[in-house]
Amino acid sequence: VGVNVLNVTDLAPDTSDHISALQVRVDRARVATAAAGLDALLVSPGPDLRYLTGYDAIPLERLTLLVLPVAGPLTLIAPHLEQAAALASPVGALDVRVRDWHETQDPYALVTEVVGSARTVAVDDHMWAVKALRIVDALPHANVRAAGSVLGRLRAIKDAAEIESLARAGAAIDSVHAQVAGLLRPGRTEREVGRDISELILAAGHVRVDFVIVGSGPNGASPHHELSDRVLLPNEPVVVDIGGTMPDGYCSDSTRTYALGDVGDEYRGYYATLLASQAAGVAAGQVGIACADVDAITRNVMIAGGVGEYFIHRTGHGIGLETHEDPYIVESNAAIMEVGMAYSVEPGFYLSGRFGARIEDIVVLTDDGPKSVNHTPHELVVVDL
Ligand code: ZN
Ligand code: ZN
Ligand code: ZN
Repeated sequence: VGVNVLNVTDLAPDTSDHISALQVRVDRARVATAAAGLDALLVSPGPDLRYLTGYDAIPLERLTLLVLPVAGPLTLIAPHLEQAAALASPVGALDVRVRDWHETQDPYALVTEVVGSARTVAVDDHMWAVKALRIVDALPHANVRAAGSVLGRLRAIKDAAEIESLARAGAAIDSVHAQVAGLLRPGRTEREVGRDISELILAAGHVRVDFVIVGSGPNGASPHHELSDRVLLPNEPVVVDIGGTMPDGYCSDSTRTYALGDVGDEYRGYYATLLASQAAGVAAGQVGIACADVDAITRNVMIAGGVGEYFIHRTGHGIGLETHEDPYIVESNAAIMEVGMAYSVEPGFYLSGRFGARIEDIVVLTDDGPKSVNHTPHELVVVDL
């Protein structure tokens, strides 16, 4: 199967200025906010704030809040002790007014003052409930909604710098998978292997390990099984799904399935179908197709191969500043694919009590079609005993 890969070296050098890229995002967010019938977005620390302003604020109980109106200046309400950190971030170079508040002040009074007469506002999906509820109280005449449908759609379309970031994250996690076979030996536990993998994820350039799944034998039948003290046995498959966050905030996520010795004809037969399904899913990505259709194309190969009933989850999820974000590649998602979307294609089969398998790549939809940021081979990686 020819794999259409996106190499870090294929990408043009990043000449675009980070600040101007952020300015473009803010401008797009204003347009989308107005189009959604909203007067302002209220964004607390998390991936949405980092996306819009480059500010990777610590999520604390004290209120930090970006007020992004459809017109007029942006305001960042921030605790006085966080002001220096905020101004040291790209916020300092963007056209953002910082309104700081001191320990004994009520920051929600500032929300009332800054948001003023807005009738309809939206808060980011990750906002702590306690903050969202206090904002509702601070704006008694406003209709407060969730901003996910506005910001999710913007963040789903990656710009050139983001695609480069995802390619770097893909190369980093590929370098880990290239070393996993050497860690798998009968007699080691999943947890021992997982600890080694975590170290490799950090050594590969990630700043955070987001998850390490080592699903040996029957544990592979649980898609989000993480680690246990189960000992790896000869002649069984091991599902390894790993990911981390890079210094710029972008995430990696890749699954390969390994075979410790001979896993048998039945398993290899199912795996051949899975290989074809994953390749079909990657190739299915094109501008104008619905996310649901990519799921159907991937799933139909599994159904035709007799393993459709064992493919118990959606085909994939978007990825960027979060491991799971828009667009979701699922039967219920009629959203149309556009250039710049980045998402996983990760079919699997799971036979409860017996075994599982999954193959997962991150795919970017480019002008030249779908390109994987992951390069390691998709075939079952057989570890000779
Ligand atoms: Zn997941
Ligand atoms: Zn995934
Ligand atoms: Zn994964």
